[in-house]
Amino acid sequence: MQTMQVRGDFPILTKTIYGKYPLVYLDNAATTQKPRSVVEAMTEEYYNVNANVHRGVHFLSQQATELHEGSRETVRKFLNARSSSEIVFTRGTTESINLVAQCFSDAFMKEGDEVIVSEMEHHSNIVSWQLQQQRKGIKLRVIPITDDGLLRLDEYEKLFNEHTRIVSVTHVSNVLGTINPVKEIIRIAHEHGVPVLIDGAQSTPHMPVDVQELDCDFFAFSGHKIYGPTGIGVLYGKEDLLDKLPPYMGGGEMIKNVSFERTTFNELPFKFEAGTPDYVATTGLAKALDYVSAIGMDKIEAHERDLTQYAMQRMNEIEGMHIFGPKDIQQHDAVISFLVAQEGSFIHHLDMGTLLDRLGIAVRTGHHCAEPLMRRLGIEGTCRASFALYNTREEVDALVAGINRVRQMF
Ligand code: PMP
Repeated sequence: MQTMQVRGDFPILTKTIYGKYPLVYLDNAATTQKPRSVVEAMTEEYYNVNANVHRGVHFLSQQATELHEGSRETVRKFLNARSSSEIVFTRGTTESINLVAQCFSDAFMKEGDEVIVSEMEHHSNIVSWQLQQQRKGIKLRVIPITDDGLLRLDEYEKLFNEHTRIVSVTHVSNVLGTINPVKEIIRIAHEHGVPVLIDGAQSTPHMPVDVQELDCDFFAFSGHKIYGPTGIGVLYGKEDLLDKLPPYMGGGEMIKNVSFERTTFNELPFKFEAGTPDYVATTGLAKALDYVSAIGMDKIEAHERDLTQYAMQRMNEIEGMHIFGPKDIQQHDAVISFLVAQEGSFIHHLDMGTLLDRLGIAVRTGHHCAEPLMRRLGIEGTCRASFALYNTREEVDALVAGINRVRQMF
């Protein structure tokens, strides 16, 4: 992969921050930067195509609808779903998970029924289910992790019982970088006749994903983490399962016929897409998926794997460095959470992040929306460096030099 060539596609990477040039952007797990092709396609649509999609007889509406439905087909291909009926546009991973939690529990769960999540979940995959706990009295069961941040599959198997209705786990941890063995997790769940939702927010941008090969029942991801616009995401669901779920929200687009006595609902996927969709964002998302597909997800994966390995090696040379998550690079995605010990205690993650920022290096600090995981690790938060296809070894070197500078200040 020609990293320097692709960097030219991202104008923001040439920014000067606090007099430091160029910006070292290592907060990609929170959101990635956008290539020109994405921004330009969206601007072009607003300037030249804009009209509300579906049901419009006029030219622009039909053109906008074609773009929007074409984007759905691009997503279908990207995930290798069987049918575009299985691709529901949402606002992002959070909304996708909430949709499944609410609609699945309404269709299939009663008081005392259980959902299995894991100790490393993002809040969106915890709180969505807790809301159903409050509404319906369902229970959360939690797969524990090892000290190295791996899921305990032996304990996972023990969680199944006659009340288990669904498993909902992350593909890749946004804190530990752990790549979970989701195929195995799905196989075990299916042996118990239980469907699985995979939170793909952190996997989709970094590795090829094939929902048929995984055999997951639901899969969620966000556009903005894969070089696309904010406010758009995807829920993949197997058609027979989606068909059995009630609608999520009521409104236009999701109905067939409405009367005050009785309303019938639209077919998939529109049943889950009430209201005017963000049809410009879907164009942007499709452009982003075209962009990464043209480079090749396997090439992006190899580049980021190399960078992560290099970063772990270089960062481990720093005195007092503590990196969380798996030591084995095969199990560790492009996310590195760390703290640096100095004279018996860790330099506070906020101090580290703020000082790195002054050196022109953007990392994320805090609990990363995973407070239960922080509790398990016995810490309040970490600094997190996360990589994308445009990051380089020189940026890793800048990070290492930056951390060493901060150490000297303490
Ligand atoms: N799950 C994981 C693993 C995440 O990293 C994130 C974003 N930090 C989310 C879910 C939520 O994604 P969004 O905010 O785009 O809905």
